[in-house]
Amino acid sequence: SREAEKQVGQTPLMRQYYKIKSRYPNAILLFRMGDFYETFDEDAHIVSRVLGITLTKRSNGQAADVPLAGFPHHALDNYLPKLVRAGYRVAICEQLEDPKFARKVVKRDVVEVVTPGVSFHEHLLDPKRANYLAAVVWGTERGERDRIGFAFLDASTGEFSVTEAPAHRLEDLLQTIQPAEVLVDKRQRDRLQGVRGLSFVVTPQEDWVFSFDYAYEVLLRHFKTHSLKGFGVDDLRLGLQAAGAALHYLGETQKGRLPHVRRLTRYVTDEYMVLDPQTKRNLELVASLQDGTQEGSLVQILDETLTPMGGRLLRRWLLRPLKNVRQIEKRLDAVEALVRDRRLRERLREELRQVGDLERLAARVCTGRATPRDLMHLRLTLEQIPPIKQVLADVSCDTLRRLAEQLTLCTQVVERIRQALVDDPPASLSDGGVIRDGFSAELDELREIARSGKDFIARLQQKEIERTGIPSLKVGFNKVFGYYIEVTNAHRNKIPPHYIRKQTLVNAERYITPELKEYEEKILSAEEKIASLEAELFNRLRLEVAEATAELQLNASLLAMLDVFCSLAEVADRYGYTRPELHEGTELLIEEGRHPVVERTLPPGEPFIPNDIYLDTHAQQILIITGPNMAGKSVVLRQTGLIVLLAQIGSFVPARRARIGIVDRIFTRVGASDNLAAGESTFLVEMNETANILNNATPRSLILLDEVGRGTSTFDGLSIAWALVEYLHETPSVAARTLFATHYHELNELAERFPRVKNFRVQVEEHDGRVIFLHKLVPGGADHSYGIEVARMAGLPEPVIARAREILRHLEAQHLVVEAPAGDGEPVRPVRARRAERIPADTSAFQLSLFAQPEPDPVAEELKERLRRIDPNRMTPIEALLLLDELKRLV
Ligand code: ADP
Repeated sequence: SREAEKQVGQTPLMRQYYKIKSRYPNAILLFRMGDFYETFDEDAHIVSRVLGITLTKRSNGQAADVPLAGFPHHALDNYLPKLVRAGYRVAICEQLEDPKFARKVVKRDVVEVVTPGVSFHEHLLDPKRANYLAAVVWGTERGERDRIGFAFLDASTGEFSVTEAPAHRLEDLLQTIQPAEVLVDKRQRDRLQGVRGLSFVVTPQEDWVFSFDYAYEVLLRHFKTHSLKGFGVDDLRLGLQAAGAALHYLGETQKGRLPHVRRLTRYVTDEYMVLDPQTKRNLELVASLQDGTQEGSLVQILDETLTPMGGRLLRRWLLRPLKNVRQIEKRLDAVEALVRDRRLRERLREELRQVGDLERLAARVCTGRATPRDLMHLRLTLEQIPPIKQVLADVSCDTLRRLAEQLTLCTQVVERIRQALVDDPPASLSDGGVIRDGFSAELDELREIARSGKDFIARLQQKEIERTGIPSLKVGFNKVFGYYIEVTNAHRNKIPPHYIRKQTLVNAERYITPELKEYEEKILSAEEKIASLEAELFNRLRLEVAEATAELQLNASLLAMLDVFCSLAEVADRYGYTRPELHEGTELLIEEGRHPVVERTLPPGEPFIPNDIYLDTHAQQILIITGPNMAGKSVVLRQTGLIVLLAQIGSFVPARRARIGIVDRIFTRVGASDNLAAGESTFLVEMNETANILNNATPRSLILLDEVGRGTSTFDGLSIAWALVEYLHETPSVAARTLFATHYHELNELAERFPRVKNFRVQVEEHDGRVIFLHKLVPGGADHSYGIEVARMAGLPEPVIARAREILRHLEAQHLVVEAPAGDGEPVRPVRARRAERIPADTSAFQLSLFAQPEPDPVAEELKERLRRIDPNRMTPIEALLLLDELKRLV
């Protein structure tokens, strides 16, 4: 009844508003009123808060005042992105008729709903990133309960894909696709809550939207087909439910303008190497660990693309490396051809520089959003195609030649735009002057009328000056009175009688004459006609161009690919990468490999030291890599992962030589995780990630483990690390190639017991008591703890270092005897017994001083107690500082 109350005594305008608003309860409704977009009620509160604009009130007839917040229409480009990025859906309601001609309330309706996942607005889109809307549905029928259907769609380009997967793969999928918005059946909404660390807006939908029958019908209706067999997706029942829901949502928001969504492709996850979320993070593929920006990531080094669509494709390739040797070789062929022939590459890049975002331009053209400048860019882009085809016509590389053959000239489109559009069109159609002279006889005529009218009026001024003898007489124009004749008061007495006074200024008067008005009428009506004719001609042109959408989209994808090939070749040439050899075996050989990012970011004068890696599931499966902190263990691990990944996207690699047996999945467990912020202990995160590895690795995987077990006590950590290596070695189904960096030199013992485990260490050298990092990986284990090494480097006095050595040896003898796990019935034997024998004979004194119980000190007890009670994981830095200060005062 509150609704009813609202209705009583409302102004007609507000009645119209509430009627439209009721259809978009989950969106902010921007209600166009003249030059403003207004919002009311709850929407107004949100808008005023998010945009920081003033909240006012509007009187609504006899009903109570309504909260109101609005902004000028031209500020939409600025404000819309802010609302959408804040996670809101925004319905844009326009005036559908000219208020001048409206008899009652101006007709209005929503023309588009902009959501985080569905947008065409340039200001909302990142040119280098796809903007995906995804939909997910969990199976409920028998046999599909642990599966999901998943679809994703980029409204700005028309890309649309569908897949099915085991439910636990959802996080991977989301991590790979990185959608901005995810649709979910409202009854299944809770299931998305388990997915962490991803930023997207969840949009629940009614359950029927996800029903199979409805989804299938939506898809058939859209593609105008009788079945989906032609797309090769007919068997994906769950997948199609998701795809239908995504298309349904797109239709709702775009009011049916989706002609650029022309195919539904099957997203075959099996084709791609799997990269877990943490692997993508740890290898810093598209964002650095340090601050999450692109600075310091692989893509930053790799991205020399010249077009936005090339940039997007490169990112897609990086996150979806291939597994098929033949496919990879095809890409490598193209890159190699462009590396070898620098002139070819430079000529192509010269052309690519002129190429615009054809993918998004095509989408704007066929959704009726293209501006005159968009069509101009489209023309300029298409004009680069003939030279590109020509340049590639006789290259010997098959991949490049085929690519060039598939490029379509679109001559007719180019010709049409050339004929119709001026060379330097204004940003918006309403600015006028869009259509070229000579294109339309009717338009030319109208323009002539307007021009000659203006000429006449210009001449009129001179004529009237002569006739009246008033030298300062002026003809002017303003919006309210149209054309007028202005005479200063000094000459008032010379005014001819047929002048009609219109306006009085401080020291002048303005007049009109019938003759003047006659020409004004001619000019204004001609200009009005010009505007509507230009709009008509432009829209016709837009439709003609839209006919070629399929060709435009194909060209867009081919140019994007060419751009990526050129970019990969440019990087390879610039930084001295080589072509990797790929094969179906399990051998991984890297000679003089480098870390692509670290080698670019070392300070001048500090050369990067290349390293060799050899791994083979059947011979040298697991490398235990020891070395002090900062020796370069992590760098070796990561560069191995990156080289494999680069090779499998079809890139050259930073190494003298690389032979790579295809990797199906790269796992990483690197360094102390930063998930502490999420309230989990380092150790738990570490163990979660390790469990994932052991549950999913295959003999074709590559596992990079850095300091596993660090987050717990030495004994726990060491035991877990030991068991882990043993498991990877002894279980054929997970016998993956593994690099294991560790500070537990005890793990070196493993090599003695397991044939495919080998010890390596990162070399350090001492000169005059100083440790020098050589960053060189050499065979062999470490024979002492590096902790003391580090202590020495930090400048601890020599007697303390010497004493620490002795104590260490002593402790090792007393406590740190690792019980090597027993193999088949073998008796347990302490593997460290050897070292225990080297205890200095006179350790008894140390023993006393170390282990004798001193008198309890109350301050120390208090400190200990306080320290025991705090949980650093739950403290803010300020709290920690305050506590420190407090503790200091205790002593
Ligand atoms: P660790 O994992 O052993 O603690 P890192 O792998 O993090 O050490 O390396 C520490 C630093 O040493 C790196 O940030 C880098 O500056 C430098 N470094 C590592 N490897 C190399 C190398 N091969 N050549 C030159 N500098 C290197």
